Amino acid sequence: MQDPFDLTAGWLQEHLLIPLLYETGLMNWEDVSYGWALFAVYGAVQVAVTFAVCLPLEHWRPVERWPDSKAVWVDALYTVLSRVGILPFVTYVLFYRIQVWANGTLADHGWVPPTLERMFPFLMGEQVLTFVVYAIILDFAEYWRHWLSHQFRWWWALHSLHHAQRQMTFWSDDRNHLLDDVIAFVWFGVIALLIGVPPLQFPLLVLVLRFLESLSHANVRLSFGWLGERLLISPRFHRAHHGILAAGQRSCNYGAVFPWWDMMFRTADFSRDYVQTGDPSGEEALATGTYVEQQWAGVRRFLRSFRRRPAARSGGVARSV
Ligand SMILES: [Zn+2]
Ligand SMILES: [Zn+2]
Repeated sequence: MQDPFDLTAGWLQEHLLIPLLYETGLMNWEDVSYGWALFAVYGAVQVAVTFAVCLPLEHWRPVERWPDSKAVWVDALYTVLSRVGILPFVTYVLFYRIQVWANGTLADHGWVPPTLERMFPFLMGEQVLTFVVYAIILDFAEYWRHWLSHQFRWWWALHSLHHAQRQMTFWSDDRNHLLDDVIAFVWFGVIALLIGVPPLQFPLLVLVLRFLESLSHANVRLSFGWLGERLLISPRFHRAHHGILAAGQRSCNYGAVFPWWDMMFRTADFSRDYVQTGDPSGEEALATGTYVEQQWAGVRRFLRSFRRRPAARSGGVARSV
């Protein structure tokens, strides 16, 4: 018997995706439309699960209470657009197409693309362990992408949209500029191709990792304890990354899921406790504008970053665009 995910995905494929592809003359995408619909359903379920876990936590022990939380609704829109619309398309449809093409091209040149199992034979048949190893490698790549986005003025101009929120909640993880998202997808996708993540595992990895990232943005007084915080990133740890910097203070805690890279490369700070979040250097539209206003403000800041001469940097972290 088909499970409810299959049934819903089949219905979506039949009544929404195929008519849409037919109308737009893109029927050659039909073969991936079922997978696309299935991961859109998984994405919707993920949003529901995140909501069911994080909302009670935020009510239980909130860091902050706001009389008016209108700005949070825009973050919720970012999350739904990203998890149900963009991520299923990018991680399943695009990734699948590119992987088939890349593997075919490499095979034509007599080269068999790498997979983790072939590089490390002890992983053969160990599906759960392989999944965890893929997650660790991708998280390592995420650490460096995130760190770099704080180093270049143009990149920080885009990434600052993520930091502009003064009312940070579990919805804030997907609050990103679309150009920043494109860079992130390319970065993540290229690494996934290089290490040979199978097409079906890729969206599943993104689902698991993004759930943990949502939790790390939650407005909750939640620490995992001395040891726990060194194993997995907690809301307390990631909040320190979003904190408004005091004079002379450096940005810290760039990790997404595991804090190990921050510890290894000396960017971890476990001492900052439930700081105030936001980015005072950006224009107000980045914080409280509508979705479109935020995106435009991001483009303006991005263009300005090329025009002005670089301001003096403190601690190698560009925060003055
Ligand atoms: Zn950041
Ligand atoms: Zn964040």
